[in-house]
Amino acid sequence: MIPPRLARFLERVGPLYIGGAFEEAAGGERIEVLDPSTAEPIAQVARGGPEDAARAVRAARRALEGAWGRTSPDERGRLLFRLAEAIEAHAEELAALEALNVGKPIGEARMADVPLAAQHFRYFAGWPTKLTGEVLPVSLPGRHHVFTRREPVGVVAAITPWNFPLLIASWKLAPALAAGNAVVLKPSELTPLSALYLAELVEEVGFPAGAVNVVPGRGEDVGRALVADPGVDKVSFTGSVEVGQAILRQAAETMKRVTLELGGKSPNIVFEDADLERALKGSLFAAFFNQGEICAAGSRLFVPRKAAAEITERLVEEAKRIRLGPALAPGTQMGPLVSRSHLERVRAYIELGQKEGAELLVGGGPAPEAGPGFFLRPTIFRAEDRHAISREEVFGPVLAVLAFDDLEEVVRRANDTPYGLAAGIWTRDLSRALRVAEALGAGTVWVNGYYLLDAAGAWGGFRASGLGREMGRYALEHYTEVKTVWLNLG
Ligand code: NAD
Repeated sequence: MIPPRLARFLERVGPLYIGGAFEEAAGGERIEVLDPSTAEPIAQVARGGPEDAARAVRAARRALEGAWGRTSPDERGRLLFRLAEAIEAHAEELAALEALNVGKPIGEARMADVPLAAQHFRYFAGWPTKLTGEVLPVSLPGRHHVFTRREPVGVVAAITPWNFPLLIASWKLAPALAAGNAVVLKPSELTPLSALYLAELVEEVGFPAGAVNVVPGRGEDVGRALVADPGVDKVSFTGSVEVGQAILRQAAETMKRVTLELGGKSPNIVFEDADLERALKGSLFAAFFNQGEICAAGSRLFVPRKAAAEITERLVEEAKRIRLGPALAPGTQMGPLVSRSHLERVRAYIELGQKEGAELLVGGGPAPEAGPGFFLRPTIFRAEDRHAISREEVFGPVLAVLAFDDLEEVVRRANDTPYGLAAGIWTRDLSRALRVAEALGAGTVWVNGYYLLDAAGAWGGFRASGLGREMGRYALEHYTEVKTVWLNLG
């Protein structure tokens, strides 16, 4: 079931990628990487530490001062195009790798993770030749010619989570490289494999040494060292709110630029005039795609009180039909959670939901027939806003269904959260869709759809869900500094 090219990769994977070379960690230690479908080890990867982080930052700096810094915009674009094509040429191995390491169904990795990652590099490949400054019409007395330049920020530390390892790495690498930065990528210690596969592709397509470095390791070791390192100019982080806050505090010491993509508790609102078939399908997708391990999961489903019984009954029936199984098996619709400790965390939320009085309608328990891994059945609660499962990010397949009576009330309740990453609306009434989209405090609002993403879009959170934006031209603003040049013409 593991493609032969991938089997060969699993045999050789291990070393870190620093300055264009694959090397062991300074401490000589390794991290055991598991397959969550079986709970068995699949690879041993070098466990980077602070010394490796410092070495990677120095390699990135040398690249900026050397060959990478001298690369023309056209050549940067060409390298990014080549990387997009290499990802497509290795799509099957990468999809299998994400399934194997994260536990996501291979069909989803083929449909989403890998093509979207390739699209991201292709989109940003077009930008290096179009990044311009402008001439400013100043009014200062005298004669001046004033213009701006967009320059790379410098060395970027990209710190990523375990739920979309390849895709989220591409959200950071593509715009950072397009703008001429050098990057040190620190993948999650749970899922470092696709980042190391990508490092091989970076090497193969010919990026100058040090433009991209990959240092797996624990957040407390490599992540923290990168954020503290005065040689890092910017941190681009995706992960939990707590770690995001710690990074922001720590980055203040060296005045680093910081962008944060953090958690969410996204509302998904079905209005009474919605196309119910589409809304139900979309709401299940919103709650259970990627095992619900997704920052933008539509984990608070608001339904009209009058239709609540019918909607919940149909959701429960559909949830029972979702096929759980090993991530690499062709018919699997939902894989295991990423780790035993994460499974325990999600189960603790389910127990808390029951203790607080939410009504468990389906799921909640393990699925031993799916395999020996970290499986959890899709879970639906009839809940209230006060329950922890309706307020806190569970990051698993747990859906809270909440009844509402009118529009103003549902908008107020949807916005009653410290988060603001995404929201969904299902309605046929265009003016209602636009009014509610305007009223919701979220970085992205989807109308009659969910998880619609594109490299040309913009992605990021309001409030506790983050700082800054990824994707599209918005991302480039965070990977460049604006320099103003004044010429006094006398
Ligand atoms: P996490 O915050 O535990 O870890 C994220 C990364 O940070 C990992 O690589 C980890 O090793 C590293 N890290 C941990 N401590 C660190 C420290 N002190 N300094 C520097 N780096 C450190 O998150 P996770 O469990 O990997 O991922 C789940 C979280 O990510 C959820 O909260 C989810 O909502 C969020 N997420 C957000 C988005 C988005 O686009 N907004 C996308 C995916 C996931």
